[in-house]
Amino acid sequence: MAKYNPENIKTIGVYASGGDAPGMNAAIRAVVRTAILRKLRVVGITQGYTGMLEKQFADMDLRSVANIIQRGGSILKAGRCPEFIKTENRKIAVDNLRSEGIDALVCIGGDGSFTAANLLWQEHKIPVVGVPGTIDNDIFGTDHTIGFDTAVNTALDAIDRIRDTAASHDRLFIIEVMGRDSGFIAVASGLAGGAEDIFIPEHPFQIDKTVDLIKRGMARGKNSSILVAAEGVKPGRAYDLAESIRKNSGHLATVCILGHIQRGGRPSAFDRLIASRMGSNAVDQLLSGNCDIMVGTKGDNLVHVELSECLKQKKHVNKDLIQLAQILSN
Ligand code: ADP
Repeated sequence: MAKYNPENIKTIGVYASGGDAPGMNAAIRAVVRTAILRKLRVVGITQGYTGMLEKQFADMDLRSVANIIQRGGSILKAGRCPEFIKTENRKIAVDNLRSEGIDALVCIGGDGSFTAANLLWQEHKIPVVGVPGTIDNDIFGTDHTIGFDTAVNTALDAIDRIRDTAASHDRLFIIEVMGRDSGFIAVASGLAGGAEDIFIPEHPFQIDKTVDLIKRGMARGKNSSILVAAEGVKPGRAYDLAESIRKNSGHLATVCILGHIQRGGRPSAFDRLIASRMGSNAVDQLLSGNCDIMVGTKGDNLVHVELSECLKQKKHVNKDLIQLAQILSN
């Protein structure tokens, strides 16, 4: 873990970056309130790395984070900043941070945001601690990311509703959930929603097996089925799946793409809890002289993992859960 001398830290900056996730506000609140309690000045940076380039800085006080713990999205906005890929732009951002008096940063975001945070430390020795905020849960080194639990519950609510229609109309539904190129939301919401099968990018389509599952289900008197598919790199993948099923079995599947309803909304209790713990701990890590790390969870505990380690390794979906969903849907 990288170390630096925390004695000169007077001001920390906090920002959210990448896609928004429910619970980011709880993390911002925890950072601001912990830092103020520890006698630091806190600057909110709006719009992540874009805000650093455009000097979107504003002092935050205890009241500026009042009444936000229950709100989805991010009061500091989030978003992407393709210009940050260029070394010279990162230098401009660092000059802006320094002229604002910002000595250290807390970055709330996913692996793209952590890549940039890691570069700020490696290239310019700006101490940064990362807090994992993404609905995708695809960050190595942490069991949970902020927003994942809420997104799974949102998807699950939709799956339960669609199941009512599937059962009333004897239909086969394919529900596509978010997750970019990872299948964590699909596996968790599919298993919890009693899906007959789950399709994730990490696992090739086994269409014959799925058709067989549907046929065997029908032979046992089942007249409706729900399949859950992760979007993969290209949203709309569920339509390809529906077409394969039609070609292989003659069954028509209705596709429902949940899309962005999964990104927003009131954060669950679980997401508020981990966000509060991680955000507060991130400030304490900075004050202890630790940086270039992510605060993550392992079981009930907080853990600290080097950002380079989080970025180097891939977190894998537990594929046994797909098999379990197939067994339990019998
Ligand atoms: P997430 O943090 O959710 O994974 P992105 O992958 O979109 O979201 O990354 C968020 C932002 O982080 C990008 O818009 C960019 O500003 C910065 N970033 C991502 N990758 C890099 C990189 N390789 N070099 C510098 N900055 C990067």
